Amino acid sequence: MTNLTESLRTSLDETFDFSTVELARKQGDADTTQKFLWKLRDGQLVESVLIPASPALYGDASDRHTLCVSTQVGCAYGCTFCASGLDGFKRNLEPAEIIDQVLAVERAQGRAGERAINNLVIMGMGEPLANYDNLMASLEILNAEWGTNIGARKITISTSGLVPQIKKLAAQPRQYRLAISLHGATDAVRDRIMPINRKYPLAKLADAAEEYQQAKSGKLTLEYILIAGVNDGLDQVLPLAQLAHRLRAKVNLIPYNHVDGLEWDRPDDAIQDAFHEALISRGTLTTLRREKGHDIDAACGQLRLRTEKELAST
Ligand code: SF4
Repeated sequence: MTNLTESLRTSLDETFDFSTVELARKQGDADTTQKFLWKLRDGQLVESVLIPASPALYGDASDRHTLCVSTQVGCAYGCTFCASGLDGFKRNLEPAEIIDQVLAVERAQGRAGERAINNLVIMGMGEPLANYDNLMASLEILNAEWGTNIGARKITISTSGLVPQIKKLAAQPRQYRLAISLHGATDAVRDRIMPINRKYPLAKLADAAEEYQQAKSGKLTLEYILIAGVNDGLDQVLPLAQLAHRLRAKVNLIPYNHVDGLEWDRPDDAIQDAFHEALISRGTLTTLRREKGHDIDAACGQLRLRTEKELAST
C-alpha cells in the first residue's frame, strides 16, 4: 500500500495481524476427523477438530464440515477424565484467536474465502462460558453476514455446567444451541468426575438448562462420555432419560478416548450398546458416536500435551 506513508505502514504492521494462529501440527486426512494444533503468538498451543459432514451429530448433512474450536489454553475446571485440564489453566483466548481457528482451517483446506465450515461446536480445549465476553465477541463476528455468516442455530456452545453464564446466555438475543457436558445423571457420579458439580449441582444445572431451553426453544444436547465403571451403569439411565425428557434434549453418547496418564477407559461395546438401547427404550433421542479416533489422539487436549512433552525433551 505505497499510497500510505511509510510511518503509517510501519505503525499498521506493528499494530495489526492478519492471522493469530500458525499451524504447528496436523493429524488425520480429508474425509476423516482431522485435528489441528495451533501455535499462538505467545507460543501456547491449542487444538481444533474438523469433523466430516454427518447428519447425526450437529447441524445438517452437507458437503461442508463441523469444526470444534478451543476457547482457552488449558482449563481450570479439572474434570478428572480430561486431557485439556491436566496442565491447569493458562489463559483465555482472544476473540481473534477463536475466529482465526475457523479461517485457518479453511485456508488449510485450500478453501480460503469460501465458507467450508458451516457448523461450529464450541467444545474444544477450555470451558467456553468461563471466557464469556471473548466468546460472545467472536461469535458475533462468526455469525454476522459481514463476518463468516455461520447461522446462530449452527453454532453449538458447550458447557460443563456454569449456571450463571447459562442464564446470561439465555438472556442474550442470539439463538445459539446449547450442549451440556453432563457425563453423569446423579450428583454422586458428577461429583466424582466433575468438580464444577459441587458448586452447581444437578438440580441447579437442570433449572438453568430449562431456562435456556424455554428462552430459545431449540433442542439441547446432553453430552455423555461413557467411562467404564464410572457412569456406564444402568442406574444412570432413568435419571438421564428423565432429564432429557424435561429439557427436550437429545443425548449424545461418546465412548471415552483413553488419555495417557489417566486411569479411565472406555466400556466394552456390549455395555455401550446396552446403555444406548436402555435410553432408546425409554423414548430418549440418543446417538452413540463410536468414532475411530484413537489414532489421532482424539481426546481433546491430548495432541497438545503430547507435543509439549516432545518439545520439552528436545
Ligand atoms: S471437560 Fe471441559 S470443563 Fe472439564 S476440564 Fe476438560 S475442558 Fe475443562
